Amino acid sequence: IITLAVESSCDETSVAILKNGREVLSNIINTQVDLHKKFGGVVPEVASRKHIENIDVVLQEALDKANITLNDVDHIAVTYGPGLVGALLVGLSHAKALAFTLNKPLVGVNHIEGHVSANYIEHKDLKPPFITLIVSGGHTHLVEVKDYGEYEILGRTRDDASGEAFDKIARSMGLGYPGGPIVDRLAKEGNKNAIDFPRAYLDEGYDFSFSGLKSAVLNYLNAKKMKNEEIVVEDVCASFQEAVVEVLSKKAIKAAKEKGYNTITLAGGVACNSALRDKLTELGKQNNIDIKYPSPVLCTDNAAMIGCAGYYSYINGRRDDMSLNAVPNLRIGQK
Ligand code: ATP
Ligand code: MG
Ligand code: FE
Repeated sequence: IITLAVESSCDETSVAILKNGREVLSNIINTQVDLHKKFGGVVPEVASRKHIENIDVVLQEALDKANITLNDVDHIAVTYGPGLVGALLVGLSHAKALAFTLNKPLVGVNHIEGHVSANYIEHKDLKPPFITLIVSGGHTHLVEVKDYGEYEILGRTRDDASGEAFDKIARSMGLGYPGGPIVDRLAKEGNKNAIDFPRAYLDEGYDFSFSGLKSAVLNYLNAKKMKNEEIVVEDVCASFQEAVVEVLSKKAIKAAKEKGYNTITLAGGVACNSALRDKLTELGKQNNIDIKYPSPVLCTDNAAMIGCAGYYSYINGRRDDMSLNAVPNLRIGQK
């Protein structure tokens, strides 16, 4: 089965071709990050316009790289939420037009379920059930993956997402955008025990909170400036990152142990974070829990992960029609 997948929920225009859900024949990603850098974040209208300019080129490149034609495609998979409505509509309209003219089935995909599915591409023998820790730019969820496409949310962030926290901290120190990769890099040169930032365990449940930590970092920076004291950016990055990573890892391990799972997967852009990967792997070893994460290109936004999630929905019988609309706040597990 050949899947053609389209992703345009934020600032990456991407088209991928997959064979039988897990074999990636092509995964073309056009990122607009340089365009949005000067604004310090994604500007929705600029993103939509750029998606329109890019999508045909990206589609053609994906077909060429996979060495197939549109007639070889068995179904179309497309992100319909969550994301920026204008951005989503570009990919969705394109996918609908393709499905309609080629007379091929259309399958709508939840972007976050796509992030989780990146692990199926990376790890060919991975099968549900397992625990997944979703840490992306806009989401932070601890989820039980009971079967393909079947999710139970154990906990979520009550305020900022983990990626958002990285981006905001980086911005407050003028480090650039997106902040996650920059903080990760600078933290390697810093001392993670230099500053004792707060960890929000929230009565030992599975929910998260990062806004208190964010305020603590901002207060620390302001106090240093007021006193005209030197700020060691590397130490701030390392100490902040350690506070995020410690809570995320401990709660993920706790969920696996309490719910009786021996596999945890990481999903979303923050799954690129080297400290998170290392910490969770270390705790996993101590607790006999297998830790899996996708390679960086599959962690951040890409159409291959959407194609994989779409393939499983397709074989489970999901079909959408031309009335499929963008759902900006689509929740995980919502049909
Ligand atoms: P969502 O998927 O929730 O809709 P999104 O698509 O914008 O949001 P992703 O593409 O999953 O988010 O990930 C982007 C986020 O990942 C950004 O916040 C970025 O800073 C973060 N990120 C990327 N690499 C790293 C890293 N090495 N360390 C920490 N964060 C990182
Ligand atoms: Mg992006
Ligand atoms: Fe994403």
